[in-house]
Amino acid sequence: MTAITESAICTTCPYCGVGCGVTARPDGAGGLEIRGDKAHPANEGRLCSKGSALGETVGLEDRLLAPQIGGQEASWDTALDLVASKFRAAIAEHGPDAVAFYVSGQLLTEDYYVANKLMKGFIGSGNIDTNSRLCMASSVAGHRRAFGTDTVPGLYEDFDQAEVIVLVGSNLAWCHPVLYQRIAAAKSARPDLRVVVVDPRRTATCDLADLHLAIAPGGDAALFNGLLAQIAATGAVNAAYVAAHVTGFPEALAAAQASDPALTGLSDADLAAFYRLWIGSEKVVTVYSQGINQSSSGTDKVNAILNCHLATGRIGRPGMGPFSVTGQPNAMGGREVGGLANMLACHLDIENADHRGAVQGFWQSPAMAPGPGLKAVDMFRAVEAGQIKALWVICTNPAVSMPEADRVRAAIAGCDFVVVSDLTAQTDTAQLADVVLPATGWGEKDGTVTNSERRISRQRAVLPPPGQARHDWQILCDFAARMGWGAWFDYANPAAIFREYAALSGVAGALGRDFDISDLATLSDADYAALAPFTWPQSARKRGGRFFAEGQFYTPDARARMLPIVPRLPQSALSPDTPFRLNTGRVRDHWHTMTRTVKSARLSQHMGEPYLEIHPRDAARLGLGPAVLAEVSNTHGTALLRVLESARVPQGSVFAPMHWTAQTASAGRVDALVPATVDPVSGQPESKAATVRIAPF
Ligand code: SF4
Repeated sequence: MTAITESAICTTCPYCGVGCGVTARPDGAGGLEIRGDKAHPANEGRLCSKGSALGETVGLEDRLLAPQIGGQEASWDTALDLVASKFRAAIAEHGPDAVAFYVSGQLLTEDYYVANKLMKGFIGSGNIDTNSRLCMASSVAGHRRAFGTDTVPGLYEDFDQAEVIVLVGSNLAWCHPVLYQRIAAAKSARPDLRVVVVDPRRTATCDLADLHLAIAPGGDAALFNGLLAQIAATGAVNAAYVAAHVTGFPEALAAAQASDPALTGLSDADLAAFYRLWIGSEKVVTVYSQGINQSSSGTDKVNAILNCHLATGRIGRPGMGPFSVTGQPNAMGGREVGGLANMLACHLDIENADHRGAVQGFWQSPAMAPGPGLKAVDMFRAVEAGQIKALWVICTNPAVSMPEADRVRAAIAGCDFVVVSDLTAQTDTAQLADVVLPATGWGEKDGTVTNSERRISRQRAVLPPPGQARHDWQILCDFAARMGWGAWFDYANPAAIFREYAALSGVAGALGRDFDISDLATLSDADYAALAPFTWPQSARKRGGRFFAEGQFYTPDARARMLPIVPRLPQSALSPDTPFRLNTGRVRDHWHTMTRTVKSARLSQHMGEPYLEIHPRDAARLGLGPAVLAEVSNTHGTALLRVLESARVPQGSVFAPMHWTAQTASAGRVDALVPATVDPVSGQPESKAATVRIAPF
């Protein structure tokens, strides 16, 4: 595969974690002509509605074209001098933990690497966290507990070979549409393929399901505990694999056998059908995403799933394994560079002094974070408490997307000094900033991203940076130079950053970690420009492909850990005052807080305004007719949402999308209703189990 085809540029879609390859070329009318890249292994030419509309979203209507200080245009020198002086003063007076970066799973890996190096190795704080905390932190924590590293064992091609695919808390049809298309194609080619959907809602993904388990909110751990108990009861344990490669089996099984299947809310017949399918076919892929992760017990749910695959040895071989799919285009790249407050670069452990020393030695840096920093919810609590004096938000919109969004918006407004780097000054968060810096966006940026199957692909520039916009890595390097660290951040281009990052991964590989792309540390600029998509690891020690078929886990004894899981229900309890369970999520044609997708008229046609999906009987009981406005509220906030009656949600539960902002629908900010309760291990908020009251507006 080559980088350029007939003057179209091969690049990667900036939306979901499928990581589809696209070809793009200017259409001569200010937009881009977009096609699916048939040569890209992630999508083989397929695109969804969002990806195919990318060409309609590159207009400059609301773009920020120059830095702003207090809403007034300023030069780059003036803006960056101010940012550096404020950060320097906060660090000098209050220490390195008085500043923080809040970044994004949409940054390119090179941007992410520079931000992480700057905060952890030069400022000397762990206070860099990311909106990926809201997306898949529980999967990271579950992987690390079971495998010793944050390793996704499988590949997309496993979907083509599986006999049973289980989708848990994952509306693939809307959130990862090209993977849904891939499974639909596999089912069409092999009608014996069985698809199970585990979701309280009958989502669009259920159209493909042979079995839909409308599980009770919070019932997933009980479901997979029950499966583990049944695996043992039916003699389906892979005793040889467990004996050779796993610890903790007896304890995990005892906890599973003590687990109450009634927590699933499912009938005995449905449970039996699921267990029969899962146990009866060796080639099972269990796919999970936000429905599992966004929970106050998300990490335990992940480990309940991993337990079943470990007990049966169904991991790392073709057509089988647990498979976490990420929401964002570069959530995986962020994990790989250590862009979470509790991780270090290249899957090294920030809690491990030897690992910290190795990274600091490689960077030759003057400081090193002494341990984990503040995770997203705690970070904004520290902003609220006045402990964070200077905050830099890059490529994300926490005033809308964080749980308890009204409280977070007030905290940001009250912070001593806030910088935002983004495409536009119109986001809810940028509106609160002291300084707004114009960043380049998709179509203008150059770098790499990693998709859900560990495939690293290039994003390539098709268009020039507009106005004075700069790349995020450049902005951070310009800032670093003003802080006195210019020699360590003197990169000529993204290729130079990638080479350094690849070389650091060799340090990690030598320390026995999974992430190693050190063969690419000497890549020329030309080879980087033409880099074809590949899965990691990519080194002389180990090549890409599947992990763990032969054990070799990244724990001290090289064995995986099965964990005893005691199911826990959502933290917010239903009450007479708040009797409805609110599930939040995405719609098919919008992305995050809509900064890009709102520019496409055809994408906005699918769902034009914020809505509340509610069962017709609940709507009738509340006196809500179709398409009227409902006021949805709890102690955290209020939203006004258009009623969409649908029997796809069970009675007592409602669903609302999370995309709308103060700019696009002033009362539709659904995360204002989500409590900031988090998983104690991963720090991921419970975004799918708020409790609310509903009344006609
Ligand atoms: Fe983009 Fe995801 Fe759609 Fe692929 S499936 S085109 S990566 S939004």
